[in-house]
Amino acid sequence: MSNIINMLESKNPDIILNSGCDIICEACPNNIGGECRDCIKVERIDYNCLSELKLFNGSIINWSDLKRLANKSIIEKNKLDKVCGSCMWKQYCK
Ligand code: SF4
Ligand code: SF4
Repeated sequence: MSNIINMLESKNPDIILNSGCDIICEACPNNIGGECRDCIKVERIDYNCLSELKLFNGSIINWSDLKRLANKSIIEKNKLDKVCGSCMWKQYCK
C-alpha cells in the first residue's frame, strides 16, 4: 500500500474509480482470485463514499483532486463514520 501511495503522490495520475477488486487489493487477504471475500460490506462503503463525492463507479479523477474532494466532502464534514461504518482502519483515515 505504501508503494501505491508513493506512486499516487509523486505522479498524480488519473484514477478510474472501481468498486470491484483492483491493483490496491493485490496483497489483501480478502482478495480471493480477484474477488473480494467481503464484497457486500465494501460495496456498501463504496456506494456511500461515491454518493458523498457525487462521483460514480467508473468516474475518472486525478489523485490530488480526489484527495481534495474527499477532504472537503467527507473529512471536514465529519462524515467518515457515516460513510465507512465500523471499519477497523478508520483511525488511519481521519
Ligand atoms: S477488502 Fe476487498 S475491496 Fe478492500 S482491499 Fe481487500 S479485497 Fe480489495
Ligand atoms: S475508514 Fe478508511 S480504510 Fe476504512 S473503509 Fe473508510 S476509507 Fe476505507
